[in-house]
Order: sequence, then C-alpha cells, then structure tokens
Amino acid sequence: MKTLLVLGASGDMAGRLLLPGLARLIRLGRADGLKLVGAGSDDWTNEHWHERIDGSFALAMEKADDAGRAALQQVRNDSSYHFLDVTKPGLADLVATLDGPVAIYFALPPAVSQKAFNALGADSLPEGTRLVMEKPFGTDQASAHLLNEKLAKVVPEQNIHRVDHFLGKATVFNILGLRFANRILEPVWSNLHIEKVEIFFDEALALENRARYYDHAGALRDMIQSHLLQVMALLALNAPSTLHERDLRDHIGSVLRASSVDLDAPGSSRRARYTAGRIGDRTVSDYTAEPGVDAGNNTETLAEITVSINNERWSGVPFILRSGKALGVTRKEAVVTFKPVSHLPTGFKGEDVPTKLRIGFGPDTLQLEIDVNGPGDIFSLDRTTLSTDLNATDLLPYGEVLEGVLAGDPTLSVRGDTAEDCWRIVDPVLKSWSQGQVPLDEYTAGSAGPEAWPTSRGE
Ligand code: NDP
Repeated sequence: MKTLLVLGASGDMAGRLLLPGLARLIRLGRADGLKLVGAGSDDWTNEHWHERIDGSFALAMEKADDAGRAALQQVRNDSSYHFLDVTKPGLADLVATLDGPVAIYFALPPAVSQKAFNALGADSLPEGTRLVMEKPFGTDQASAHLLNEKLAKVVPEQNIHRVDHFLGKATVFNILGLRFANRILEPVWSNLHIEKVEIFFDEALALENRARYYDHAGALRDMIQSHLLQVMALLALNAPSTLHERDLRDHIGSVLRASSVDLDAPGSSRRARYTAGRIGDRTVSDYTAEPGVDAGNNTETLAEITVSINNERWSGVPFILRSGKALGVTRKEAVVTFKPVSHLPTGFKGEDVPTKLRIGFGPDTLQLEIDVNGPGDIFSLDRTTLSTDLNATDLLPYGEVLEGVLAGDPTLSVRGDTAEDCWRIVDPVLKSWSQGQVPLDEYTAGSAGPEAWPTSRGE
C-alpha cells in the first residue's frame, strides 16, 4: 500500500486507537514508504492535523530509535488533512489524486460509512484499492448482506478488511497455539469432557460520553455480535490444516454457521442496565441520566447469550457469552469448565471441583485450576492454580490489524459470510428483546451484575 486514507480522521477512534497503532508499525520499520492522508468533517488546517498526529504518535516517538523517530517524523510531515464531507462526491476526487494503491479506512459512524462508500464512485476506484470497514458491519443480517453485495461489486473480497481489533494477532494465534500445539488439550476439547465454555468481557468503564453511538447499539451489538462470537469460534473450531487465511477463515465460518441461540431455553438471553453506584473511588450516575441517553431506547449495558454450536463436537455444551459496562469486577477471559471425573476413588475427602482453564485477553494469560492433595491431611483435596503470561507481539491490536491491511493479508479480517452469520445468530435475540419478551434487569454500577444471573454469582 502506498497511501492510507483515514475517513473520520478527526474522530475519537482515529486519534485514540488507529494512529497510535500505525505509529507502532512505522517505528518498527514495518510501514516503510507509507503516506498518511486524513479527511474529516472538522474544519482543521494541516497544522492542526499535525498536532493530532503528534499527540497520537507521542508514545511511539518516545520509545523509537533514531531510524524510527525519523520515519515517524517523515510520515507526519508529509501527511495532509482534507476538510471534507465524505458523503459527497468530493471524496472520489480526493481518492483520484492519491498515490495508489490506497487503503481507505472508514473510521466513521456506521451510517456515515455507508454514505461515504456510495460517494466513492464505485466504478472509478483505482486498481488495488483496499476498503477497511469498522464494526459494526451493518445493523442486522439483511443490512450486512446488502452491504456485502455492494462492496463485492467494487473490490474483491480479499481487498475488504472488516476490522475486529479484538482479534489482534497475539490473541488469535495464542489460542490456536495453545489448542493445537499441545497434545494434552485437543483430545479432551469436546462435549465428552467439557461442561461449558464462558467468554466474559466485563469492564469497569461506564458510558464515557459515547452515548451517540452506544445508546443505539448496546452491549449485545457492541461486543457480543462481533468480538465475543469471533473468540468463541477460535475456541471451538477444528484444527485448520495451515494458518493461511483461507483455511483459518473457512474453519471460523464453519463454527459460526453451526451456531444459534435457542430462544425457547430459559435464560438463553439476558439483558440489564446499570443504575447509579460507585466503582472504586468513582461515582457513576444512572445510565439513563448520562448526557445523550434516551431511557426509552431501553439500551442494555450488560448482555448475555447462551450459544449452541450444533455439530458433533459441541452438541450439548453451552457457550455463554457475556459483556457489560460499569461492573465492579473486570473480567476479560474465556473459562473452559471440564466435567467432573467419572469416579473419584473412595477414600479421598472433600469435593472434586471441576478443572478450569482460563484464557485471559489483553494481556493474554493462561491459568489452569486443578485439584491437588491438600496440605496437612494428604487425603483431602485442595485447589491450586498454574499460571503463566502468554506472549504479545510488539504491536498494538490496531497495529496488527493495519499490518494485515498494508500487507494485503486478510487473515485477521472478518470475512463477509461470517459477518452475516454473526448477525443471524443475534438477530432473533434482538427481536425478542424489542418485543419485550426478556425483562431489562438492573444492576448497581460497581456490582457484579444482577444477582439473579448465575454468571454474576460466579456459578
Ligand atoms: P465518531 O462519532 O467520533 O466519528 C468519527 C469521525 O467521523 C468524527 O470526527 C466525525 O466528525 C466524522 N464524520 C461524521 N460524519 C462525517 C461526514 N459526513 N464527513 C466527514 N467526517 C464525518 O466515531 P468514532 O471515532 O468513535 O468511531 C468510528 C468507528 O470506529 C465507528 O464505526 C465505531 O463503531 C468504530 N469503533 C470505535 C471505537 C472507539 O472507541 N471510539 C472502538 C472500536 C471501533 P464530527 O464529530 O464532526 O461529526
């Protein structure tokens, strides 16, 4: 790629996540010769844009060696900003002036992205153009399908990057390495030995002024529909023959195609919204009192679904996916709970507590909780935990995603059919919620979530 064009360059995501990720790549000499161009609806001068780049590049600059500093400086100095309504035809004119091939990054609110795409003038896109789409990709299965059809008319699937920054290289390959490079795991990795799999992304952060987006999205669309279903697929897929994008993405697709939520099963979906409370020394106001929130939207700030993967390996094993904001306990992990042993030799005292494997995300960690013989009385059973940190790459997740874009490697991008399948899985849940079939529970900010939910009680 010769040029990275960022649409929505003055926005929060571009400044806080995308540009720092890019900076890390440049600093490490992994984006040589790249030109950075910004376009946005804020009336910024080039100087103002350079100040934003300075802010976003600062950390990478601090850590860079001389060559890295020079490379960062060069990208910054050569970069230009275009004050532009990207939903108007001026966008196609701008693209035509850039050194190709160009990667166009839609760092825009989703509805604006679709209009910007229409404004690109599909017929006139230079050869080799790559389109980088942020989540959420569409708003339901039908709209994701329509968007896929539109994109497919313009560029080949290989040139479309649907970004899921949760799927940083380290997380993806740490899970695959753990599962497929260790003979002791794969034989027990099925419904014969596994009781349930839980994937949590509970955060302490509250709304943080993101009502404009979040109050129309909610936790299910924001986190579960995209990120957590992808993690679930990595935990459940059969071993791919290679790590090539086709092999890997075919296997991810196969898991998601087999997945659904059984709405008739009690507790198969749950939703809740936080009320005022305290998290550490922070006072958090009621979600509905946050600026920009419309209480009538009934937006959930905590969501949980139980997914069934209807294939031979996983039939009968619940995959419980939960994510929410303003929680007292931060949990960013997958927990694999094994079945109890079929017979504990008579004579042991105490309980056989199921073995648990915990895979933590960002930083990636691994913990195995097992039973051992207790101290004092050797016949009693006790619990111990084996822990390690998993290794990270030198890049931030957005740097990892961008590296794939620049190198033309879509391995970490969500493939079009998969993006649609993720909506197919959650659409019926969203429909049942909008029809009021599942109550909107409440939980106090800073708590573990509604007490009636087993996941809040650690069960
Ligand atoms: P913002 O709401 O901050 O919008 C991004 C930028 O787009 C803003 O600068 C906005 O300008 C600009 N914009 C809006 N309309 C136009 C237009 N017609 N022409 C040109 N520029 C326009 O969104 P975020 O930065 O928060 O998010 C962008 C994308 O990234 C979204 O898809 C989001 O889901 C995704 N994302 C965001 C994350 C985050 O933490 N922010 C995390 C992960 C993904 P103005 O403010 O003037 O309207």
